[in-house]
Amino acid sequence: MKIYIETDMEGISGISDKSMIERNDRYALERLMTDTNAAIRGAFDGGADEVIVEDGHGGGNNFIKEMLDSRAVQVTHEPVYDCDACFMVGVHAKSGTEHAFYDHTQSSVSWHDYYINGRACGEMAQLGAFSGAFGIPIVMVSGDFAACAEAREFFGNIKTACVKYGIGHVKAECIPDDEAERLIYEAARSAVSITKEVQPFRVVLPAEIKVEFNRTDYCDAYMERGRKDIERLDGRTVRRIQNTIEKYSDILM
Ligand SMILES: [Zn+2]
Repeated sequence: MKIYIETDMEGISGISDKSMIERNDRYALERLMTDTNAAIRGAFDGGADEVIVEDGHGGGNNFIKEMLDSRAVQVTHEPVYDCDACFMVGVHAKSGTEHAFYDHTQSSVSWHDYYINGRACGEMAQLGAFSGAFGIPIVMVSGDFAACAEAREFFGNIKTACVKYGIGHVKAECIPDDEAERLIYEAARSAVSITKEVQPFRVVLPAEIKVEFNRTDYCDAYMERGRKDIERLDGRTVRRIQNTIEKYSDILM
């Protein structure tokens, strides 16, 4: 049993203010390690033989390496292929979600909404679609209440750990740190036993991938890349038809 853990920052416990993420707050990074380690511990106690973990926020470099549970192997990019299931620790709801801390999809500056086959999706669904293409389900998510609700909406009855409540885009109300750690551990431990029951999130192919940008100039800049597979639908919207999902970038724009 091999578990892949993808981490993000926005849904980490104890992070109650957007500025804590933007200034690389030491406490926020320590909470990232605590939440990640709770998931690793839970995975092993639940029966995992191997755990690999990716430091996913902003392209990485957030981990305090000496704090990472030494049983887990840190990896970068697309190592999901031979895993049995994925956990997502510290994730956030998709752009446009109410009562969600730091809701966004990929770029909080330029992306308004992102769709797969007409359904508005966020970053959880993106990883779900990628891993789902290899038959690998997402079975555990931690984050704020809205992120946990989104995870169940997309992936069904998986294990979730709600560590805070978004008051709005920039503020969250957090549960106590030790309680959050316990919830993540419990969700991770029990998630290992449902890896066979949870359906992978499979996207119907060929898939229409569509992004609506916030402004026409973001769309102009995107079109200037000159990609032949991209069609501009209107001032702010681009789309492409994706025939296969083989790498993570196949479900991005
Ligand atoms: Zn992030």
